[in-house]
Amino acid sequence: NRAKQADQPYLFYSAEMNRRSLARIKLATDLHHAIERNELRLYFQPQINPESGLISGAEALIRWQHPVRGLLSPGEFIPFAEENGLIGLVGNWVIEAACQQLAQWQQDGLHLPRLAVNLSARQFQPGLAERLLQVLRPYHIQPAQLELEITETLLMQVDERMTQMLQELHDAGFTLALDDFGTGYSNLAYLLAFPIDYLKIDQRFVRGLPYDANNVAIVRAIIGIAQNLGLELIAEGVETIEEARFLAGMDCDLLQGFYLARPLPAEEFTRLLRDGIAQPVN
Ligand code: C2E
Ligand code: MG
Ligand code: MG
Ligand code: MG
Repeated sequence: NRAKQADQPYLFYSAEMNRRSLARIKLATDLHHAIERNELRLYFQPQINPESGLISGAEALIRWQHPVRGLLSPGEFIPFAEENGLIGLVGNWVIEAACQQLAQWQQDGLHLPRLAVNLSARQFQPGLAERLLQVLRPYHIQPAQLELEITETLLMQVDERMTQMLQELHDAGFTLALDDFGTGYSNLAYLLAFPIDYLKIDQRFVRGLPYDANNVAIVRAIIGIAQNLGLELIAEGVETIEEARFLAGMDCDLLQGFYLARPLPAEEFTRLLRDGIAQPVN
């Protein structure tokens, strides 16, 4: 019981830590096998142009269909993969799977202008742009169709190497998006220093629009920055019609969130691409 545990903190913690480290070893071997056993999945969440109601892009979000634990969200294994040097393998799988799916849609005559993938800092190794181009080539995918989402935290490691890699990705024609904008250590000079195409407003600032006065102020400011710097803007985590209407009224370029659609398995997203989504937001 609790009182007893509180009396024996060391015993309790060592048992708990042992249990956890065993669980982590298990997770590492499992994750190694997940790729071979074809247990990783990409889910797709549309990004909607609120004026037309058309799907202008999508974000690929990884899931792990674990044989015992069920469908795991990225929060349950990506940080772990980053710590354990497995993120390179997982990241490569994501790019390959994204290209495969884009090629499939292309072949089926379904048009998706852009598919975004999330990149971890660890994937930024010299030669990244060239490696990505090599993956795209056999699928006949153009770099502009693949959007690379990076976070502010990554940009904080501003060194010459990082600047050069981002410039190479941009020069190769990849679309770059800054994810979770406003949540990191926001140095606005980054926006000028790096060749970024899209800003993604983090969902915490979207929440409660237009009733949350603080978020209204923040979102107005972010929209102003994006417009003045000529960046496209995507709002993340749009959950209500009120949020959607406010953002559409502010000329936010694209909306992404449960109000429009949840991240969907490939078959369901394909149906959405074929049949179109709901009406314009107004
Ligand atoms: P993110 O890139 O910011 O992705 C958006 C997250 O918000 C997704 O969570 C998505 O399911 C969720 N979301 C979308 N719309 C709504 C909404 O209306 N309301 C709420 N409450 N949530 C919404 P998910 O799929 O669990 O992914 C979490 C994070 O994991 C992602 O955040 C991204 O940082 C990371 N991640 C996902 N896939 C990958 C991947 O392939 N590679 C790497 N390195 N990281 C990934
Ligand atoms: Mg993202
Ligand atoms: Mg985000
Ligand atoms: Mg614009």
